[in-house]
Amino acid sequence: MLELQTLRTFVDPRLVAGLALLLPSLLFIRKTVRRHLLRKFTIVPDLDGVGAPRAGGKIAGTAVICGGSFGGLFTARICADHFKRVVVIEPEAWTFTEEARSVSNFGTREVQNDNTVYNTIAHKRTRVSQYTGNHIYHIPVLRFARKMFPGFDAIARRWVSTNIYLSGYPVPAPFGPDAPEVLAGPRRDVEPLFRKLARETCPNVEFVQGLVDGFDVTEGSGNAISSVSVRLPDGSSKSLSGDLIADCAGPSALGLKLLSRLYPALANVPALREEYNPNTAFSSLEFPVAPNFLDNVRAMKIPRNDGRGLIDVDRGTDFWMYVPDPTIEHRLIGIGRIKPDRVGIIMGGWNIEPPVSLAEARRFAEQAPFVPDFVFKILDLLEPVADKCTATPIRSSTCWKIRFENAGHILPRNFVAIGDATMRVNSRFGQGVTKALMGAVTLDGVLREHSVGSKNLSRTYFVRLASRTANIWNNTKYADYGHPSVTPAAGETLQSGWFSRALTRKLLPVVSTNETAARTLFDSLHFLVPPTDMLHVTILASLVREVLWPSPSPSP
Ligand SMILES: Cc1cc2nc3c(=O)[nH]c(=O)nc-3n(C[C@H](O)[C@H](O)[C@H](O)COP(=O)(O)OP(=O)(O)OC[C@H]3O[C@@H](n4cnc5c(N)ncnc54)[C@H](O)[C@@H]3O)c2cc1C
Repeated sequence: MLELQTLRTFVDPRLVAGLALLLPSLLFIRKTVRRHLLRKFTIVPDLDGVGAPRAGGKIAGTAVICGGSFGGLFTARICADHFKRVVVIEPEAWTFTEEARSVSNFGTREVQNDNTVYNTIAHKRTRVSQYTGNHIYHIPVLRFARKMFPGFDAIARRWVSTNIYLSGYPVPAPFGPDAPEVLAGPRRDVEPLFRKLARETCPNVEFVQGLVDGFDVTEGSGNAISSVSVRLPDGSSKSLSGDLIADCAGPSALGLKLLSRLYPALANVPALREEYNPNTAFSSLEFPVAPNFLDNVRAMKIPRNDGRGLIDVDRGTDFWMYVPDPTIEHRLIGIGRIKPDRVGIIMGGWNIEPPVSLAEARRFAEQAPFVPDFVFKILDLLEPVADKCTATPIRSSTCWKIRFENAGHILPRNFVAIGDATMRVNSRFGQGVTKALMGAVTLDGVLREHSVGSKNLSRTYFVRLASRTANIWNNTKYADYGHPSVTPAAGETLQSGWFSRALTRKLLPVVSTNETAARTLFDSLHFLVPPTDMLHVTILASLVREVLWPSPSPSP
């Protein structure tokens, strides 16, 4: 009793009250800051809101979408909730056929290069060279599909019967029944699926065949594009007025090209377009699943990369994948199933000739010191179907980023650009489709806050998109600079980004031993958390330990 009284005498009750308030206040501040970072660096909060009816009803106007690929289809679905009328303009005639909304069933054709002859898939999507290349999609793509196309899982599974399936994505994937699912399937099936769903579930979306070749800005329209000019298949021209104009025309960078004619001041915007050449090439090889192939692969007992048992040969997509740090190794190799009846190999890297046959793939793997024995055994299993191999080799041309956010004071207020129309990155991380989704979902958030006549619409969109996609650009570019054959962007050298490369090299060993780091990196690679989540105290502690006492390099 005496002790308690002494304590009361010495401890100021205001201090006790202050301390009692401190903890909840700190928790509140932490939560608020995290919410801000999540909104600034990811589309997650906007993704939660997509599909909700627009407050006050749809805008009595038209959204014109230039381009009907992933970016255009995602944007059309978003705009269908905001505008009474949505028009998608796409030049490729084939995309208007039933076949472009169906499971792919292309034949093959022979390709003769200087000294090689190989078979490739004879697809009809002439404007998208990577149409038959293997694609991966990040978790937000599946979340979007499930929210925007009710019953998506059933439709996807039924429509393709066995082609598209969902599975946990590896490296280092969460494990078990609660592991997040990822959409998996070849692009030549997934793009038609989204095209079919957009056409069938959005009655207010029209598809027009034509090539957008001009924007009109009429006087008095408050610096807005009033209409786009479309060259129709018969050679005639048509003007289509719109309240929102979305450039989803991919690598043609249509928007910048057409706007530069109208706004000469764009030429003076500092660093408006940055580009570099990654000097990479990748080849997607495909084989039919040979008889007993899966039984034989299962019998190999391939270990999971986290050491927790064996890979799920039936449900998973990847058997094994090695994504290199180009400072150390320039070859990327992956092997798995791209759909239940097709085995896919991806091989490529920096300053290489991509293989186009099983024999060349084997030679490529033999030159790489890190390839485990079971990969060669899988290649052996493919020998009986070696003559059925198809290859899609693609050399990565220039990567670029258009900083529309720097030109907000010049751009028309109703212009947005989505997908490769704003940024094209090295395909090594397969981020392009998710990046297109990030644009469409960011637009949804902006359209819910700004009227379509607002002078801040375009500006807000590009500023938001820039912070959400900055890491995609910086991380891939600076990783690429690790290889001496890369041509850096103007004003940079291959030294640029050295800290980012050094940090990544220290982080990777941490990820294999620290579960928080592994999960945070996984979520971050899937664009679900802000990059600042990697500043978690246990991750930082492991990083410091790694700097002071480096782990041995992984055995080849
Ligand atoms: C080898 C390779 C592998 C890849 N792997 C992956 C991967 O695994 N995962 C991933 O997410 N991404 C991957 N990508 C990137 C991905 O393919 C692209 O980022 C994606 O296609 C971009 O979609 P988009 O709609 O912006 O552009 P695109 O798909 O290029 O479509 C542009 C559309 O605009 C149309 N168009 C062109 N000009 C006009 C015009 N004047 N008027 C109207 N329409 C026009 C075109 O016909 C086309 O339909 C890969 C890329 C390559 C090269």
